[in-house]
Amino acid sequence: MNQKLTTSDHSRDIAGLKYVYPVLSRRAGGLSVGINFNTNNACNWRCIYCQVPDLVRGAAPEMNFQLLEWELRFFLQQVLMGDFYDQFNVPEQQRIIKDIAISGNGEPTSLKQFDKAMALIGQIATEMGVLPESHFVLITNGSLMHKSVVEEGLKILDHFQGEVWFKLDSATESGKMKINDSKQTDEKTLENLKLSSALCNTSLQTCIVDFLAAKEAVFEQKKYVELLAEIKRRQIKIQKIMLYTIARPSLQPEAKQINKVDENIMEQYANQLRSLEYKVKISL
Ligand code: SF4
Repeated sequence: MNQKLTTSDHSRDIAGLKYVYPVLSRRAGGLSVGINFNTNNACNWRCIYCQVPDLVRGAAPEMNFQLLEWELRFFLQQVLMGDFYDQFNVPEQQRIIKDIAISGNGEPTSLKQFDKAMALIGQIATEMGVLPESHFVLITNGSLMHKSVVEEGLKILDHFQGEVWFKLDSATESGKMKINDSKQTDEKTLENLKLSSALCNTSLQTCIVDFLAAKEAVFEQKKYVELLAEIKRRQIKIQKIMLYTIARPSLQPEAKQINKVDENIMEQYANQLRSLEYKVKISL
């Protein structure tokens, strides 16, 4: 019996591979070819809305480059010339590779040979005619931008006309602690963002959740907009800001305490950002 791949099914092992997984992306409107470097479910942050099962603190394990190459070639072949779309009953209008997304069960830039992995993926996807037609996206919390392998990886991503989606959920140190369980300072966030945008096109992805007390949430919104004004003042180039809220249940202990935010709040954020002349996209 054929399986159905839906926009709500984000299981990373649906294709039975270790590193490569398909997602019918609600945000992208087609097939996203995901690549998971963090097969050990390890991340240096612990966001309260994180959907990684059995998330642990840590870095990505050693990469088996031979296997990554084999899987990516095999999977793209199945999609481009095989029966992948029929096998998973993908609707006709969604039979398009929208992007190759480096996004997995943890922070991908924690991979030791991050630059080598980016080069290999870019080269295979180009050889097979997927790039530059489809997008090449790195989804990251941005905290390791200062590492030289990450800088190199970003230069490679830029060479393949790719884009960084940089996580920025809070503009305060207490907010980052409560939402991302991260001790990163505000100044470090700005430094990392500056580094990223100097090396490669960079967009911000901001998850807004209903978690904080009302007064604190208002303060967070104010500080977030102020930080985006500061980013403009420092001439850090941001392509767009993607605002979203939780679409699927968190797998963290805080799951029961967090909710989607109201559409009006998302619009309030968006309008304030647009008045600073940012391009803003909302996903509900
Ligand atoms: S940065 Fe991403 S993978 Fe890491 S804890 Fe946050 S949501 Fe999960």
